[in-house]
Amino acid sequence: MPDSPRLDTEADALGFGTRAVHAGQEPDPSTGSIMTPVHLTSTFVQEAPDVHQGYDYARVANPTRTALEQNLASLEGAAHGIAFASGVAGIDAILRRLRPGDHVVSTSDLYGGTYRLMRQIHEPMGVDFTFVDLHSTEALAEAITDATKLVWIETPTNPLLRVYDIEALADVAHEKGVDVAVDNTFASPYLQRPLSLGADLVLHSTTKYLGGHSDVVGGAVMTSDDGWNEHLRFQIKSVGAAPGPMDCFLLLRSTKTLHLRMERHCSNARAVADFLRGHDKVARVLYPGFEDHPGHETAARQMDGFGGMVSLVLEDDALETAVRFMQSTELFALAESLGGVESLVSHPASMTHGSIPADVRRAAGLPDSLVRLSVGVEDEADLVADLDRALAAV
Ligand SMILES: *Cc1c(COP(=O)(O)O)cnc(C)c1O
Repeated sequence: MPDSPRLDTEADALGFGTRAVHAGQEPDPSTGSIMTPVHLTSTFVQEAPDVHQGYDYARVANPTRTALEQNLASLEGAAHGIAFASGVAGIDAILRRLRPGDHVVSTSDLYGGTYRLMRQIHEPMGVDFTFVDLHSTEALAEAITDATKLVWIETPTNPLLRVYDIEALADVAHEKGVDVAVDNTFASPYLQRPLSLGADLVLHSTTKYLGGHSDVVGGAVMTSDDGWNEHLRFQIKSVGAAPGPMDCFLLLRSTKTLHLRMERHCSNARAVADFLRGHDKVARVLYPGFEDHPGHETAARQMDGFGGMVSLVLEDDALETAVRFMQSTELFALAESLGGVESLVSHPASMTHGSIPADVRRAAGLPDSLVRLSVGVEDEADLVADLDRALAAV
């Protein structure tokens, strides 16, 4: 790997925003270019066989990717960052450390693609999964067996915005010698740093808040555990789910403004949640910033803000009414994904969570009429007015 960056951006003395802008990056020594070059190359010239500047073949590593990995590692307070071609590629690389007979405990309320990967790809290969309500540390303790190798936590969850206590769950898992991975996609490292709460691995779909502009698909895993780092780098080299340099460049450009965007996402989501809660056509608003949200206390303790996601159920709980609402917004575009600067509205039961069987979905507390909002960084008053108009139309 190349020399460490010019600024000692790992130093605790530098704030999050400074590290967001600078970590992993320095002006290009050959030209002075302030932005990290996009290294569009598949191979690197060697002085003698296996004598090179840290790079030999771009599946294994690429300098633009290295800059991104160092940036993300700094933001999560990790020793290592490993970038992947997508969030699910990162999850898959973690799960590939397991062997037939190994066991994983996770939440019953999980991103649909993670659930599909576990049940339809890794379970047929012999890994067992148990999904429990992780609000209860006792439930986790009971679910862990001698075969358990990993606890997979997602918090806040997609789309029910449940909040799980990372520190308490990690304590239970570690007592039994089990590693803990946290999907930190919904919070972003600006709002939550799971490694500091005891997690061994942090997973991001960088497609979401870290990318933030709905123009790139990517993933990343951060860890301070050398064994996991070695495993994950071996996966990149052997399986090849590596991101291209242009995607890494776009992500590096995006993380420079993560702290600014997250502040606005949080304040807009608060305004939207307050508005919806006061509206007589809305039955339920799921938002961890509300004091009566069951995870509020935990969120206030382990997060630096309540995030940009808000879910709701209309008073008229019919699916057609929810669909009419989603088709009536103008600024909130009906689309999958989240975390971009533009506001989105989606229907988890048929979109992001369509791969979870209906009975499993309902048992996990996900009503078919639930609507999920990814609140963007537009002007708060315009977003509220858009929702007001859409509610008038249902
Ligand atoms: C989108 C998402 C993923 C998957 O990431 P991709 O980049 O789409 O592969 C994983 N976890 C959560 C919470 C997500 O929202």
